[in-house]
Amino acid sequence: TPALTEGVRAEATVDLAALRDNLAALRARTNGPELMAVVKADAYGHGALQCAREAIAAGAGWLGTATPQEALALRAAGIRPDQARILCWLWTPGGPWEQALRESVDISISGQWALDELLAAVRATGIPARVHLKADTGLGRNGCQPHDWPDLVDNAAKAQADGLLRVVGVWSHFAAADEPGHPSIQSQLDSFAQALAFAERSGIDPEVRHLANSPATLLLPQSHYDLVRPGLAMYGLSPVPDVGTPADYGLRPVMSLAARLALVKHVPAGHGVSYGHHYVTPGPTTLGLIPLGYADGIPRHASNTGPVQIGSGRYRVAGRVAMDQFVVDLGGETFEVGEEVLLFGPGDRGEPTAEDWARACGTLSYEIITRIGGRVPRRYV
Ligand code: PLP
Repeated sequence: TPALTEGVRAEATVDLAALRDNLAALRARTNGPELMAVVKADAYGHGALQCAREAIAAGAGWLGTATPQEALALRAAGIRPDQARILCWLWTPGGPWEQALRESVDISISGQWALDELLAAVRATGIPARVHLKADTGLGRNGCQPHDWPDLVDNAAKAQADGLLRVVGVWSHFAAADEPGHPSIQSQLDSFAQALAFAERSGIDPEVRHLANSPATLLLPQSHYDLVRPGLAMYGLSPVPDVGTPADYGLRPVMSLAARLALVKHVPAGHGVSYGHHYVTPGPTTLGLIPLGYADGIPRHASNTGPVQIGSGRYRVAGRVAMDQFVVDLGGETFEVGEEVLLFGPGDRGEPTAEDWARACGTLSYEIITRIGGRVPRRYV
């Protein structure tokens, strides 16, 4: 990874070659399903457009977003339907559905109220919708409950017969694919098979049946069907960190975060550090100031715990993470102001990983990378 760009306070480097290789690794671990690159939430903080383009170049024929606005932004940036189908799955009442139809965005439908609103947009535009019917097979979040599924399927089949829509997909999402052996896994596989069988008996013949997120892509081949939807794994992180490292799955972390040391100072023993003095220097020492804070996505839960690498040394956040900055206790070491501070990356320079930050903060690597804020410039390599 090249050093920080001249003059920047901090920078997230996005290794697009790693993203490409991760998609190739995921393809190699699966037996032919199509790939949907999940690029919601600005591609988990990596930059939706850049990652979408790279994923398409690597052979992903599909992109996944949460909101219709995310999907429309990709179309507006020039990603054409013949390059990638885009599915958005978070229904918003009053959302930009007419625009989504005009831009050939696929839409997930979890209930009759959404189908009704979508059909109004179809009638207003004269453009048939491309719909993915979502079954709640046990996640208990989005998706249609089994007892409402027959009506939803029948109504979608009727609308399809009337030329108002095409049911392109039937799909669902796992609750605990990242916990191998969790009883919900088999129960969701069974429930999905039933939902599909009902849809097929009702004359629905979807192009893509899909269920697998990253952990299922890596661990559950029986969930792959026609298409897999990896997010985290594509960004090179392990969705099952207690089971395997990224390298175990042929993956390499795509994002690295570095900052420039902004200040170094000598302080005596007993010196309170940062808001609330939750760290007090145990002896005379040196403190380093890192110009990143919770406004940049550094969790406040990293107070007194988040790890950084400077030179060959590992240091920890001292005291509270503030909005724009935090302090590390350098233990008497001195570094030049401007020295590079590595917060996380692939680990090949001895630096912490996003998973290390997640463990330090009691969260998931998903949250660490996704929260890195818009104030941190991205550099694509
Ligand atoms: N599919 C859906 C519906 C999702 O919401 C997500 C993200 O949470 C994914 C796939 C990708 O999940 P993961 O990052 O675990 O691969």
